[in-house]
Amino acid sequence: MRTPLAAVCVALSLCFAASASAATTQGGEPHTVKPEGGALDLISSSFGQRSRELEIVYRSAEPITPQLLAEVNGGQICTIFEQASLTARAVCVTRADGKWRIVSRGERLEGSVSQPRESELRLRFEPAEAKLKVGLADVYVKATAAGCSAQQAKAAKITWSGAKIISAAVLARPCEHRLPRVGSYGARVWDVVTTGCKRSGAGQVSRGPSGSKQVALTYDDGPSSYTPAFLRELRKLGVPATFFIVGQLVSANASVVRAMLREGNMVANHSWNHADLGGGGAGASTQLRETNAAIRRATGFTPCLFRPPYGSTGADLVSRANQQGMTSVLWSVDPLDWRTPGTGSIVSTVVGQTQGGGIILSHDGGGPRSQTLAALPQIVRALKGRGYKFVTLTDLLGYAERISLVK
Ligand code: ZN
Repeated sequence: MRTPLAAVCVALSLCFAASASAATTQGGEPHTVKPEGGALDLISSSFGQRSRELEIVYRSAEPITPQLLAEVNGGQICTIFEQASLTARAVCVTRADGKWRIVSRGERLEGSVSQPRESELRLRFEPAEAKLKVGLADVYVKATAAGCSAQQAKAAKITWSGAKIISAAVLARPCEHRLPRVGSYGARVWDVVTTGCKRSGAGQVSRGPSGSKQVALTYDDGPSSYTPAFLRELRKLGVPATFFIVGQLVSANASVVRAMLREGNMVANHSWNHADLGGGGAGASTQLRETNAAIRRATGFTPCLFRPPYGSTGADLVSRANQQGMTSVLWSVDPLDWRTPGTGSIVSTVVGQTQGGGIILSHDGGGPRSQTLAALPQIVRALKGRGYKFVTLTDLLGYAERISLVK
């Protein structure tokens, strides 16, 4: 479900979490300290989780300029995470090549840095990027202004005698600050569970945005005895697919459905028993509802996509699907694989007809599917060779995930 959107966020723009994540937040209360003067004088920090990302906010008494954090001169603000059974990990923000960077152990992390106001920096990154574990962490912050020397690092020690300064050995203002001054704050890395997806836009679609170089593989009528082989092949190829599954097959194949989601595929609704629901009516609503309930029982995930069996659809059915939070999805490429026309025919139809935003229909259940399976790697290699990227249908349509944070 992830796109590297966050990585394109640049300095001075207010970047939000990747659009594919619903806003779910925990923590983030600011800890404040009194200013102690000098360069990069942080007065508060906070550690929270926003959707899949940890969010760290630093506020300073004065503007945080690119010069103060210049990497070449050693400028950085680091949060040091101490977690049980792990060696301490520092996640630092610095400035190089005209951009804010998040760095840990000398490596650049994917993430975003924004500066909503001059005196504030906001970092977001996925905990796994910094190799942090789910659970509690002791954290403290060390801010070092660029060019800070060991002598300057300490606060100026001024000795007074009467009204006269007798020693001002270090006149420079401090350029290194620690939050808290002593000890550490408590923070938590949350586990993220995907609980569903959120439809938007048209009530029924048969393709994604045509300008894109993305395409979606979809498989209907499973799970079947062929499905594990499809999952293995997808894993080997490193591409996801979207499975429109039949509700009454879910409970007997719950572990396969869980594997679909765990491996980055999308799970969607293909009715309870593959009935023709084109006429709509209350019975159609029941088919959709019971299928989603079975999927939710097996996986904790609620689909937001429905494909009408036989492509048989109508205004009433579409509106019933929409009422249950699902978009009705048809297709733009149909190799008629269920007729077992031969692997070569399946491959040439798909490769010949697929364009950007394409939704490719195939079947992993409902009959012999070895031709469809054999076609999969050939289709992926051919379309990748033309510059297409395979994504889940929800990603193709730009839908958001629903997630929840758990301890
Ligand atoms: Zn079907």
